[in-house]
Amino acid sequence: MSKPNRPAGIMTTAIHAGDPPDASTNASAPPIHMSSTYVTEDLAGFSAHDLTPDSPYVYSRWANPTVAGLEAKIAALQGTEACLATASGMAAASAIFFTFLSAGDHLIVSDVSYAGVAELARETLPRMGVDVSAVNMSDLAAVAAAIRPNTRLIHTETPVNPINRLTDLAEVSRLAKQAGALLSCDATFASPLGMDTAALGVDLTMHSITKYIGGHGDAIGGAVAGSTELVARMRAEAAIHHGAILSPFNAWLIARGASTLPLRMKAHEAGASAIAEWLEADSRVSRVIYPGLASHPQSDLAQRQMSNMSGMISFQVGSAADGESIARLMIERLNVIHYAVSLGHHRSLIFWMGTDGLMETSFRLQGAQLEDYRHYAGDGIFRLSVGLEDAEDLIADLDGALG
Ligand SMILES: *Cc1c(COP(=O)(O)O)cnc(C)c1O
Repeated sequence: MSKPNRPAGIMTTAIHAGDPPDASTNASAPPIHMSSTYVTEDLAGFSAHDLTPDSPYVYSRWANPTVAGLEAKIAALQGTEACLATASGMAAASAIFFTFLSAGDHLIVSDVSYAGVAELARETLPRMGVDVSAVNMSDLAAVAAAIRPNTRLIHTETPVNPINRLTDLAEVSRLAKQAGALLSCDATFASPLGMDTAALGVDLTMHSITKYIGGHGDAIGGAVAGSTELVARMRAEAAIHHGAILSPFNAWLIARGASTLPLRMKAHEAGASAIAEWLEADSRVSRVIYPGLASHPQSDLAQRQMSNMSGMISFQVGSAADGESIARLMIERLNVIHYAVSLGHHRSLIFWMGTDGLMETSFRLQGAQLEDYRHYAGDGIFRLSVGLEDAEDLIADLDGALG
């Protein structure tokens, strides 16, 4: 193929990046390379230290052509030099924490986050000698006040699961740079289409690619996008030493999904906007939090920072008892939407999260942090992942299940 004379558009990038015609057969669709090992033509070393980005394939825990194709596609979509694909989103978070933090270092983590990340940061990292501060990242003064001389990493998530609160990435990046710390961001809710994280100063952008990037609910995986140097360090630790690699079969499924990501994100956003407005107008719903609504507490930031508002809606229905009884009604009555965890699939998914339970297990917030959480979530929150079905059908389904 001849060299393009202008950067490709986002839809062309999603389809073609990392997916050239197969060099050996000219197949237009990418093959799946299920080989665990490769016949070598040189006396290659067998250490993570011997691996460079242009090393030939040696063993699929180091690198695999199908996985490398997906990594190239995600790096192109996220606008970074490189990407590491991992076995799951949790493996992506682990890759960041266990590559860039050592005993004696200090981590600032969002006080609300995906529950698995919250527990990993609060329970596992302190056991490894890492000091952890959980901070409300929508409060820049709180982030600045938490910085210490040994702060090595600030890890945020925006929009944050499950309450859709936002972090001002440009401002937190400025604080991280002043402190000489890296900034990582879990952008799973936004997808690579939601924010230009690299331009906003994020060093490491992680995704659960189980969600929007794969988009079809049929494969678990994770990814961290960043500079060639940072990704090489994570590959040496997380892939080669910790072994948290993505299977080539999952990489192939997820790359196939990622090819239509820009189109899907437009449709997720359109569906979610319509449903968020319908929910906001319904008297049975006490609060709707969606970055695309003018009523979002950080609507200005959403407009400035996000180029796609995604398909994730959080809403409240009153007391914890109301939430639980409506969740039960949903399990009985929903015909289209699945009552299930996870998000970002073509199928719509909904799940209720009680505030007291989450506080006991994952977040353990108190005082002002708990108050801020309750400001968004009240006694509990429904997390609705708007899929790609007709919005009218989703609205009819919700209408019948809200009691
Ligand atoms: C699902 C999710 C994760 C974890 O990803 P897995 O692929 O399930 O391991 C991390 N962060 C966010 C925001 C998620 O939604």
